[in-house]
Amino acid sequence: MRVGLKWKLMGFIGVLLLVTLTVLSLLVLQGIKDNQLRGREQSLQIQAELAGKQVRQMYITGERTAPEEFMQRRGQELAVTLDSYNLTHVLIYDRNGRRVGNSSPMEIAIDARPALEHALNGKIAYITEKNKVEYFAPLPGPEGLLGVVQLGISIQEDQEFYQYIERLFLLVGMIVTVSGLLFGYWFVARQARAIRKLMSAADQIGDGRYLQSPVLMRGDELGELGRQIYAMSGTIEQQVARLETEKRKLQEAVERLELLEQSQKQFINNFSHEFKTPVTSIKAYADLLGMYNDDPGLIREATSNMSKEAERLSGLVDQALQLSLLNNYEPFASHPEPVDLAVLLEDACGRMNGKALKFGIMMHLDLSPVRVFADRDNLLHIFINLLDNAIKYNVPQGQIRVSSALEHRQAVIRISDTGIGIAEDERERVFEPFYTVNKDRSRASGGTGLGLALVKSLVEKQNGSIRIEGDQGQGTKVTVVFPAFEQHEP
Ligand code: ADP
Repeated sequence: MRVGLKWKLMGFIGVLLLVTLTVLSLLVLQGIKDNQLRGREQSLQIQAELAGKQVRQMYITGERTAPEEFMQRRGQELAVTLDSYNLTHVLIYDRNGRRVGNSSPMEIAIDARPALEHALNGKIAYITEKNKVEYFAPLPGPEGLLGVVQLGISIQEDQEFYQYIERLFLLVGMIVTVSGLLFGYWFVARQARAIRKLMSAADQIGDGRYLQSPVLMRGDELGELGRQIYAMSGTIEQQVARLETEKRKLQEAVERLELLEQSQKQFINNFSHEFKTPVTSIKAYADLLGMYNDDPGLIREATSNMSKEAERLSGLVDQALQLSLLNNYEPFASHPEPVDLAVLLEDACGRMNGKALKFGIMMHLDLSPVRVFADRDNLLHIFINLLDNAIKYNVPQGQIRVSSALEHRQAVIRISDTGIGIAEDERERVFEPFYTVNKDRSRASGGTGLGLALVKSLVEKQNGSIRIEGDQGQGTKVTVVFPAFEQHEP
């Protein structure tokens, strides 16, 4: 059976109180007894000495007789004279041990012989019996012993006083023990309650329910322990929260890595597939040329197609390389500087105008000067790609509108065309590498499916965003937004 701290402390207090009170009362009672005895002995000794002096005086001043005769004659008178208020009786003996005087009319029923013998030999002796003491003292004369005096004294009062003190001690002892135990119980229970509170606080922390305030408001060591447990709870809570955050971050990182791994695998698969097509086509034309090298029509067609496929291949390799560099290496050739987008867009449109005119497509520019802080080459790459798509996926004699504006402290560039448009559910997917809405059309126009993936990566690298609007058959509107560059006057 488990005995709690409370009961152990109560047992300890009880035993301590009992031992202390018992030892204390025994010592005091013994002290009282010794004191009574000493007082009695002193008083009897004085009275015996006085009696001795008186007898001696009477003997010397009286007529000269033998001590036995003197004692015989004067014994009774002496006994009565010597009897004082605190004595019960006085007995006188001559030097032969014969009783010659008794102050009391009653007989004293004790065996006084051994004590009397002692006194006859010149020594003091006494007998204690029930509530009486008989004191025997020699009565010295001028020439040896005259006789012995026996002083009777009652010790009933002393005994009553002793018993009274004994009862007092018992009563006080009981009161002190009971009240000590009650007070001790109250005190120990209070401490035990505080300890239980601390224990349940520890349990609570163990369950992950952290403390909102200190468990105990006390100025002693238990209060200090309570404050320390509260502080510890806070530290554990913070550590656990930190670990949780780390765990979440790690999980996110693992998920991102898994996604990256997946998209890299996908990229390699697509890349090898896309790579194979032009190579197969070039190989087929090379074989044809080997077989029919005297057909000028075939030679012309084969060289033209081989050159087209080779160009596509080279474009594919270029873009794949750029994209992979962009995704894998942070500092990819980005040298930001203040760039006016109106000027840059004019340059890009100028470069693409020739291709547009080939298809009878008109470009309309509505450019407001707006500056961004970005890499010039990256920006050029982005807009040339977007203009190229606006031409490739346009209709013959179509239109392209290019605008730049400062809107809400942002540089907003819109490139819209009158082409085939992109269905709503395709709008996010066209940014995936190698994704094309219509493979044949894309390939026919020398597309690789990498252009928009590259554009998106470049836009994000320059802290911008890109979105596509417009519906299938209704043309496409691409909006690119960058933070505008505002140079503050010093
Ligand atoms: P591609 O090299 O095939 O042009 P992109 O990544 O540039 O590759 O474009 C992905 C696909 O998005 C294209 O194959 C095309 O289907 C569609 N697309 C891109 N731009 C336009 C546009 N302006 N109008 C219609 N479709 C477009």
